Amino acid sequence: MQELLERKQGLHRTVLIVDDELIEREMLAAMLNESYEVIFASNGVTALEIIKHEKTTLSIILLDLHMPKLDGYSLLKILRSDSELWRIPVIVLTSEKNAEVKSLQLGAADFISKPYEAPEIIRARIEHAIELSEDRIIIHETERDVLTGLFNKEFFFEYGRRLDNQNENMPMDALVLDINRFHIINELYGRAYGDILLKKLGNSIHNLVCETGGLACRRNSNCFGIYIPHMDNPKDHISRFISMIEEVLDDRKISIRLGIYSDDGSDLDMEQRFERAELVCRKIKNHYTTCFDIYNAELHSKELHSERLINDMDSALVEKQFKVFYQPKYNICDGKPVLTSVEALVRWFHPEFGMIPPGEFITLFEDNGLIRQLDKYVWSEAANQIKKWKEEGFNVPVSVNVSRVDVFNPRLVDILSDIIKSSEIDSESLLLEITESAYSDNAQQIINTVMNLRENGFKIEMDDFGSGYSSLNMLCSLPIDALKLDMEFIRNICDNKKHFRLVGIMIDIARILEVPVIAEGVETKEQLDLLEDLGCDIIQGYYFSKPLPAEELTALLKSEVRSV
Ligand code: C2E
Ligand code: CA
Ligand code: CA
Repeated sequence: MQELLERKQGLHRTVLIVDDELIEREMLAAMLNESYEVIFASNGVTALEIIKHEKTTLSIILLDLHMPKLDGYSLLKILRSDSELWRIPVIVLTSEKNAEVKSLQLGAADFISKPYEAPEIIRARIEHAIELSEDRIIIHETERDVLTGLFNKEFFFEYGRRLDNQNENMPMDALVLDINRFHIINELYGRAYGDILLKKLGNSIHNLVCETGGLACRRNSNCFGIYIPHMDNPKDHISRFISMIEEVLDDRKISIRLGIYSDDGSDLDMEQRFERAELVCRKIKNHYTTCFDIYNAELHSKELHSERLINDMDSALVEKQFKVFYQPKYNICDGKPVLTSVEALVRWFHPEFGMIPPGEFITLFEDNGLIRQLDKYVWSEAANQIKKWKEEGFNVPVSVNVSRVDVFNPRLVDILSDIIKSSEIDSESLLLEITESAYSDNAQQIINTVMNLRENGFKIEMDDFGSGYSSLNMLCSLPIDALKLDMEFIRNICDNKKHFRLVGIMIDIARILEVPVIAEGVETKEQLDLLEDLGCDIIQGYYFSKPLPAEELTALLKSEVRSV
């Protein structure tokens, strides 16, 4: 662009004269020498070589039509179809009247008749053609992304809106295309390789919109927007498009994903279509193979619901809409089950949606980090409850769930220590359940956190054991105080021999680690008996009790005492 601006200010303009007649070349050069740097070619083939070599510096080509080897028409055709050379304007030199129309149709900017007219007229024509083409290039480059040549986002939406206004009844689909884990590709293979991929992708997208009509842009570093006339069978079209892209990229490490909004006649503007396509593209993130999905209204309403829950979370905390329920755990080691501790499980009593189970909001809050606030709230409530029960004469440890997000909070130990201090309980009565899959996220970090917590007197239970990916090796170096089996194994323990044997193996592992085993999700007597036979220590599940509000659990504690 800088070079172009300098040329526009009258510096460094180069004219290539292509003509097989020496006299003609000299005559033209004599007219132009003062204002331009003039270079020559005497046939089409040499001209093409020079043009390719000088493509960034050439301001204009003056082209004779009749030449040996490669004639002017053929050269013109080649130039116009080349993505790098099409920008250089061509003025045709001809003595035939009917050649003028044909040359203009082939993309010539203008023509100069032979024999040559007055030099001022020729110079004015050349000057005019150069100005026009330079202006066009400047406009082109401000509208476009430099790397891929596609529109940039602003102009994309501007032209898209114009397109919609001109063709009010034309249904249009919106596609958002993203490269999976692009930052890692950039890091591993270098930015230059990343740029090559983006260019190839830009080219494929450009070809697509040339075929279908519509327009495309690079939205940000590795994300593209495509706005095309509605496809009747989007799945077929998109599968074909994806195969084509995979072929072009030719690298199995790279996968892309496509979110599609397929026009269904709703009265949505271009931005809204793209919001929906983007939503779908976000939803299929982290699928490591190439994939695509099409927007549907159900997904959208789910998304809106999630959005609503996220928005309502702050006021829900202030208004105490979150209630902590407690599910008892029974020790079965000595024959008769004894209630020894409880697990705190949160429920949201939403003024509009009623009771919302944690399964609907925990992952949502984990994704955006809000879980930290909620967990802190639950831990405080649980700690206060421990104190209350203590005052009523019940010594009931409560286990709370610690999300994987909390584990990465450097203040975790401080937060928990503050909580037990202010509710005047000791750290041993607040048990911490950490899900096994958190250990595989970043093993060393979690081991450090857990050690730190244990040094401060907290007890750690590994939740959902068997669902994660702990290596046996890691388990040995893991500082934990109890293993809690994943509910999935318990569910099938009676009908699935493999699950039964796996539970046996997990209990053996707990023996090796010298920690007690907790089985949760126990619903039937049959399950309980099997677990007892296998040597399980503690049982939690509907068989004994559902999670209960604090008052009901207090009543249960009282009745347990009475029955002893
Ligand atoms: P989890 O920690 O594995 O908790 C056990 C879940 O199993 C609870 O579901 C419990 O109500 C349910 N359950 C207990 N016994 C049975 C049974 O016999 N049969 C069946 N089918 N289910 C049983 P809930 O309360 O819906 O919680 C679901 C998950 O939400 C929890 O799984 C935990 O991961 C998460 N969660 C709950 N409260 C909190 C919290 O305060 N903080 C965090 N971070 N996560 C929480
Ligand atoms: Ca748990
Ligand atoms: Ca669990």
